[in-house]
Amino acid sequence: MTELDHPAEWTYAPAPESRDIARLRSSYGLFIGGEFVDAADGATMKTINPATEEVLAEVAVAGAADVDAAVAAARKAAGGPWRSMSGAQRAKYLFRVARVLAERSRELSVLETLDNGKPIRESRDSDIPAVVAWFFHYAGWADKLEYAGYGPSPQPVGVAGQVIPWNFPLLMAAWKLAPALATGNTVVLKPAETTPLTAMVLAEIFAEADLPPGVVNIVTGAGETGRHLVAHPGVDKVAFTGSTEVGKEIQRRVAGTGKRVTLELGGKAANVVFEDAAIDQAVEGIVNGIFFNQGHVCCAGSRLLVQESVADAVLDRLKERLATLRLGDPLDKNTDIGAINSAEQLQRIRELSDVGDAEGAERWQVDCDLPTQGYWFPPTLFTGVSQSHRIAREEIFGPVLSVLTFRTPNEAVEKANNSPYGLSAGVWTEKGSRILWMAEQLRAGVVWANTFNRFDPSSPFGGYKESGFGREGGRHGLEPYLEVDDG
Ligand code: NAD
Ligand code: MN
Repeated sequence: MTELDHPAEWTYAPAPESRDIARLRSSYGLFIGGEFVDAADGATMKTINPATEEVLAEVAVAGAADVDAAVAAARKAAGGPWRSMSGAQRAKYLFRVARVLAERSRELSVLETLDNGKPIRESRDSDIPAVVAWFFHYAGWADKLEYAGYGPSPQPVGVAGQVIPWNFPLLMAAWKLAPALATGNTVVLKPAETTPLTAMVLAEIFAEADLPPGVVNIVTGAGETGRHLVAHPGVDKVAFTGSTEVGKEIQRRVAGTGKRVTLELGGKAANVVFEDAAIDQAVEGIVNGIFFNQGHVCCAGSRLLVQESVADAVLDRLKERLATLRLGDPLDKNTDIGAINSAEQLQRIRELSDVGDAEGAERWQVDCDLPTQGYWFPPTLFTGVSQSHRIAREEIFGPVLSVLTFRTPNEAVEKANNSPYGLSAGVWTEKGSRILWMAEQLRAGVVWANTFNRFDPSSPFGGYKESGFGREGGRHGLEPYLEVDDG
């Protein structure tokens, strides 16, 4: 096709960010007691760039002995100066970390995109700025804990064991670490096995900020490392973000131990579009809701509930809009849709999409060329979906939207709540009273109105039902890390 056939269509020249900015190293150790060390048994794993399948670096795999050492370092630090220093002193460290994160944001964005596969536009404009905002927000709490509503002298819980997923690697580290540190706890953090690199740069930043040794320890590895950590008797509080399946296993494992637990698990959010909604705005919100970060988002709007009277109009515009999305090199500043994070995740997305076909739903996919290397899945819609279909009930965690329709507000509520999950929901309507009514009816931790996937460090986030329990963010996010008298 020549430009003359499509005179109005813009062509983009490639605009890739340079990978040198990531300052990639060939190997990364564990961060224990303020030192970077190899695993006791020398075990390593490789992390790859999912857009190219190229090996980026070797990373240590922490075994039981390393987790032991990390918990011991955290335990020692929990009784040391970190605990006895004033909140204002702790705040200085957190402000320093926030400033250095901001200074190194370009490096961190490129590194995150290389390791995860997400578009640089997102890591640069969304992930890393939010990481910085989270540290600044909780730095501000450190000297105000006695005014947070948790008693006159709230005390830290002790040692937190934190396990995080691969979809927002550095942001999930920030969500976990910033509140734990502001409240005076010490931490052992385990990043996900496919995306460990930005957490190791964060470790470097903690070391440069002269954080007392052992206050933060970072152990890389896979599920086995996570298992050692959550089961360790020296851990007082477990915080986990990831799959519902692993969340359930963790809950069983800590039952009866007296450990505190918060779980942020999966979701299958309803994004509800009423006939009076501003349609173009809603279409942008639908796209952002499910295609942001390739749909690797626990609060993704993966079930579109659209009022029958506008369903055709919404779907036509949605398809037109999806055809303009650019899929490809995540380092290119024009890219909207990056790579799927791993071969395993791509396999899961393919399997559940095939189930959608087999159940009789109708698949529509953007007609685009997929790169031949790496893991890719095109933006996909399923129409003709009914509530009993697996693609309407199970989390796909990929760029796949299931479309259902409704006629009345009550039917919308009934369908939206008909899910084992309850993490988030979206409502699109011009009517303020309907927004308030929907927010009251929907069993979801977060309800967005005329927007979606909007995050702010001052706003609590968390689930109902199989989406987990506990809240992260804002004042509420302090509670899991404080000894709070429930009586
Ligand atoms: P996962 O739950 O297996 O992994 C999340 C984290 O837990 C990783 O750091 C992993 O190493 C660790 N882990 C795994 N097994 C563990 C165990 N037994 N004990 C302690 N830690 C353990 O998630 P996954 O395999 O990467 O993805 C599977 C599915 O989970 C996805 O398809 C998606 O539906 C869902 N998911 C949800 C989120 C979320 O943010 N809610 C994030 C990632 C994945
Ligand atoms: Mn990787």
